[in-house]
Amino acid sequence: MTSYKELGLSNTVELFKKAVSGGYAIPAYNFNNLEQLQAIIQACVETKSPVILQVSSGARKYANANLLRNMARGAVEYAKELGHAVPVVLHLDHGDSFELCVDCIENGFSSVMIDGSHLSYDENVALTKKVCDYAHSRPDYVSVEGELGVLAGVEDDVSSEHSHYTQPGEVEDFVKKTGVDSLAISIGTSHGAMKFKPEQCTRTADGILVPPPLRFDILEEIEKRIPGFPIVLHGSSSVPVEYTKMILEFGGKLKDTVGIPEEQLRKAAKSAVCKINIDSDGRLAMTAMIRKVFAQNPGEFDPRKYLGPARDELKKLYMHKNREVLGSAGKA
Ligand SMILES: [Zn+2]
Repeated sequence: MTSYKELGLSNTVELFKKAVSGGYAIPAYNFNNLEQLQAIIQACVETKSPVILQVSSGARKYANANLLRNMARGAVEYAKELGHAVPVVLHLDHGDSFELCVDCIENGFSSVMIDGSHLSYDENVALTKKVCDYAHSRPDYVSVEGELGVLAGVEDDVSSEHSHYTQPGEVEDFVKKTGVDSLAISIGTSHGAMKFKPEQCTRTADGILVPPPLRFDILEEIEKRIPGFPIVLHGSSSVPVEYTKMILEFGGKLKDTVGIPEEQLRKAAKSAVCKINIDSDGRLAMTAMIRKVFAQNPGEFDPRKYLGPARDELKKLYMHKNREVLGSAGKA
């Protein structure tokens, strides 16, 4: 058994308090390999931002739980070596069972999400409470994120064709009964890089699909009912046009990509939204750069020569997110 404190990690409690009162959101970036981790830590150290390293159960299977735990420990050391020890959280994204949450907590995670959003309300409450009771009884207090409402879209371990918005009438009861530290809500964000069908969107003059706006009215209603309580947004990639263009230019195939406009996320980050999950944008940035290298240097076969540029592009993207979208730069 490993406590996250032995790894030098932080839970989310104090970080979220500061983020809610400071009007910014902490980035939650997914990782499953070395280059992603390098990019995340370099970007967050250079912008002096706290960071949540997110791991899905799919990523744990892909990369190995032991390796990931030690990579997180390495990330803390690496940040120090780079000259600024930013707070680092190791968080399970979309935990789907009590057992998985326990396994992660025993293996050094400082925060877990239990996603019971596909269950009935009462079953969601019961499962989330069970995880909270366990995580909070640990001497090192592991923080727990729950979810109410369903996001559409496809990601590693979650897939839903239909979304339904969080019902503000449920949030107060859910938070009280479960004891969660933060709550993921559904107000119109969506997983993946094809967040909406074209018929749900409007088009700009250049043909770029624009999704329906986020439901800030629901967010406001939730904030009224649980003032100052930490809110989480999943599925918050913006799917930058420059990356989808690069992917297409260098031989890739992508159709009808749609993201959440960055201005809307910036507005959300100023509210009680204190954690914003971004994964697809990183995937697109790395893929775009790898395709470019291969297209321009077909003879290249040293992985450092294409993974290195992909890492540097990812770092650039995450620095931009911290500074211009989340507002987390300078907060650590
Ligand atoms: Zn998610």
